[in-house]
Amino acid sequence: MAGILAAIKLREAGFDDVVVYEKADRLGGTWRENTYPGLSCDVPSHFYSYSFALNPEWSRRYGSGPEILAYFEHVARQRGIDRLIRCGREVTGCAFERGRWQLRLSDGTRDEVDFVIAATGVLHHPAFPDIPGVARFAGPCFHSARWDHRVAITGKRVGVVGTGSSAIQIVGAIVDEVAELRLFQRTPQWIAPTENPAYTDEEKAEFRRSPAAMKQIREAVRQMLTDGFANVLSDADSPVLRGIHDMCVAHLERSVRDPVLRERLRPSYRAACKRLIVSDRFYEAIQRPNATLVTEGIEAVDPAGIRTRDGVLHALDVLVLATGFRVDRFVRPMRVVGDRGLALDDVWAAGPFAYMTIAVPDFPNFYMLNGPNGPVGNFSLIEVAELQMVYVLQMIERVRSGACAMSPSREAMARFDAERRKAATTTIWNTGCKSWYLDDSGLPTAWPFTFDRFRAEMSRPRFEDWVVHDGT
Ligand code: NAP
Repeated sequence: MAGILAAIKLREAGFDDVVVYEKADRLGGTWRENTYPGLSCDVPSHFYSYSFALNPEWSRRYGSGPEILAYFEHVARQRGIDRLIRCGREVTGCAFERGRWQLRLSDGTRDEVDFVIAATGVLHHPAFPDIPGVARFAGPCFHSARWDHRVAITGKRVGVVGTGSSAIQIVGAIVDEVAELRLFQRTPQWIAPTENPAYTDEEKAEFRRSPAAMKQIREAVRQMLTDGFANVLSDADSPVLRGIHDMCVAHLERSVRDPVLRERLRPSYRAACKRLIVSDRFYEAIQRPNATLVTEGIEAVDPAGIRTRDGVLHALDVLVLATGFRVDRFVRPMRVVGDRGLALDDVWAAGPFAYMTIAVPDFPNFYMLNGPNGPVGNFSLIEVAELQMVYVLQMIERVRSGACAMSPSREAMARFDAERRKAATTTIWNTGCKSWYLDDSGLPTAWPFTFDRFRAEMSRPRFEDWVVHDGT
């Protein structure tokens, strides 16, 4: 998503020497890697689209994973970006030498470039749980982001570990197909209600005739997700967040009939502390006669199934690990070496960080989209990347018109980081839950200010915060 965007924007700005390196054999990022049943995006599709490439063909409010992948392929083709993509070329190394970036590629070739934009995604290195015995499971076992479509699940006993967005979507999609479904929950999740109506043929015809109709939907969703969510995450005391909590409580109360099951599904922390899950299917699915919520902790995986701490063996044919991602990877495992031989791995030894979510001191002309400390969670990452590209293009123009290479100063980085850390303490993510938003010390790493501030910061770089490297 972000790589295609960067290439489109660079071309629009008059750069005709743009290459997109892609480690896989086709584009698509998370929408290529994730193919699990029920895959969808919980941001309405007319907002989860590029602002300059609205799509009248979305089938429903929340487009499916395959539909979203097809959308990105279509935009890349339509804009001629597919021709710039070098598939099967993973960038393994990237070093700033004599004022330019020297790239090493997985096929043994090299390239030399002036600017690097790392559009390498956020959640793409699966986290495999360290549950004892998991390798000894006799049946098929795979991570949600590596769904094995050769495995038939129809009529099988399927276990799903995890209750994040991926697991919740999977459960809703497969419960009617499998013989038995066991969901292994370590921590309950708040689930916001939603509806997912299909767009009628008439509505789609109207969208084709008049993009204004799509823009209107997009703007309404953007407003709702900005003022009703992204702008208030920074203030745990916000009445809007209290309202979201009450809405989730009411959803649980009215959707789950059995009081025992209801209490086992009730989180003990505040809604939106962990990433909020949005689902119109989950509560219904987990109450099907063939579905079981397992809340006893997992002791070990046996060849025949999962053994919980109460000694029960839950017999399974297929095991799905919906256990999330290694969230601190960002551009890695690419080895990035900046000015004066500084390795990004060393600079990030205590955890990844970025000045204004975009860049790191001493790594000149190196920019990240959806990088560390950026706004994440229940918002369109396309919107985030588009705003970041506005910033990045201004930096590139600045370099093109005089300076040779620029990175944020260490002082500006320290200032930004101190302010970010202070603000993080009052965010909803810091109200007593465990989540992937937190760093090793337990402090939220995501953008802790309002989304309006993010938009404002991205629109006009503070050039005084950047320093010029002489490139020798
Ligand atoms: P996740 O949110 O990180 O959830 C991982 C789940 O696995 C959690 O419930 C976690 O429990 C559980 N888990 C991890 N290790 C475990 C272990 N050893 N034993 C038992 N349980 C374990 O991962 P995800 O569901 O793949 O989602 C990741 C992110 O991807 C989401 O937050 C979201 O940003 C994105 N996503 C978005 C959409 C969308 O529609 N936009 C859909 C899917 C994913 P604990 O809670 O106890 O840690």
